[in-house]
Amino acid sequence: MIKYTLICNNGHQFDSWFSDSGSFEKLKKNGHLECTICFSKNVEKSLMAPRVTSGSDKKKKSFISAQSAVEKEIKALKDKILKTATDVGENFSAEARAMHYGEKKEKPIIGKTTVSEAKDLAEEGIQFLPLPWSDDKTN
Ligand SMILES: [Zn+2]
Repeated sequence: MIKYTLICNNGHQFDSWFSDSGSFEKLKKNGHLECTICFSKNVEKSLMAPRVTSGSDKKKKSFISAQSAVEKEIKALKDKILKTATDVGENFSAEARAMHYGEKKEKPIIGKTTVSEAKDLAEEGIQFLPLPWSDDKTN
């Protein structure tokens, strides 16, 4: 059995079952096909959107590879920052502030700060960036 979506000349769409692909033409030729809504005998096969089966798989794969590329970038960035910057830990906001006001020589630092401290720093015009990874070596 084959299911076709049919459409009549009045735009009614309906599904109909046929024993094989040739029986649609046969029934139509013999005038046995009619719209289930308006009984018009002017019925055609509706063009159905092609089914895409592999699309979602492809999307998934490219998403995973994009993600691992980002992870690689973050790791490279992390290595670079850890090599050049001084980890000041909990003193981050104090150190950043001291450098900003010229009390200390400027150098790249990384460290921890609370949300409210970060807000204060931003309000004082001190530039910093949140690191794109979470430090898992603490505790
Ligand atoms: Zn109709």
